[in-house]
Amino acid sequence: MTGRFAPTPSGRMHIGNITAMLAAWLDARGAGSADSDARGRMLLRIEDIDTPRVLPDADRWIMDDLDWLGLDWEGEPVYQSRRLDLYEQALRALEDAGPALVYPCFCSRADIRAASAPQEGDGFQIYPGTCRRLLRDHPDTVRDRLARGDRHSLRIAMPEPSSIVTFVDRVFGPQAYDLAREIGDSVIRRSDGLFAYQFVVTVDDLVTGVDSIVRGRDLLRSTALQTYIRDRLIASGFGNVPADCESSPSPSHPAYTHIPLIDNAAGRRLAKRERSLDMGALRARGVTAEQVIGYCAWLLRLIDDPEPRTAADLLPTFRAHGWTALRANPADRALDP
Ligand code: GLU
Repeated sequence: MTGRFAPTPSGRMHIGNITAMLAAWLDARGAGSADSDARGRMLLRIEDIDTPRVLPDADRWIMDDLDWLGLDWEGEPVYQSRRLDLYEQALRALEDAGPALVYPCFCSRADIRAASAPQEGDGFQIYPGTCRRLLRDHPDTVRDRLARGDRHSLRIAMPEPSSIVTFVDRVFGPQAYDLAREIGDSVIRRSDGLFAYQFVVTVDDLVTGVDSIVRGRDLLRSTALQTYIRDRLIASGFGNVPADCESSPSPSHPAYTHIPLIDNAAGRRLAKRERSLDMGALRARGVTAEQVIGYCAWLLRLIDDPEPRTAADLLPTFRAHGWTALRANPADRALDP
């Protein structure tokens, strides 16, 4: 089994991120039977594709905090910013896969808001399809605008007629999303030229052979989109290009575990700006690694009280119970900084 840590280096990690990291580590390292030394592989991917959000040195803080907490990984970290050729190649594979699977979109955010139903509760904006229709009805206009160099993003079209993506999340149970109605045509390359998170994460998980993904509940819906992109990449033959694959990509889908988010007492999702719970502040206050791990394990409902533990101490408990308690009660947990 291969899992991954996939932090965004936009600031110091906080209790919410660390809880996700611990969950991913337990999932990989707890794979295999209790009486053998077998354990899954753990990779570290620094998700620095969104360069304007990246903070210099945040990658080093992240690695230092993971080390300090005893959450280890194999090999060199993968930096998304150093893999642009791979993403270009994946994009070309999709573009070559069929007409209009990837199409240019000239809409601004304001255009999209004006033409759309209000955003869904989780902030997901479903694209109303304006430029897909433009390409279908007025291909010459699209050609002219591209020739003129008009600013545009690239979107991946959802299937027509729509189809339903299903998967079973290990905490949240069976999920089903209607691709056209609940996901919509999605940006894979932004108008500023940067590749979109949804696209690169799918490429990376595919080529690095990740088969178990553990992350926050806010990405549950994204899983449907990533599943679709993964299928399209595989169908395009991208996954069969051995030179670019660090392990042989499997057409089967990874296992998914989404963990509840950690809110502050006011019910707002913990953000990196809440400094009192970031690792720098906690370590400066003399909080120990075992206290942090025990607290996160309690948030994950692996232990009854937030007592100090090491990550390694938790493996037998995790092997015995997995996510049973979290599955039984996956409500987001509030805490008071
Ligand atoms: N980089 C994302 C984050 O820090 C996680 C992405 C993922 O796990 O797929 O929230």
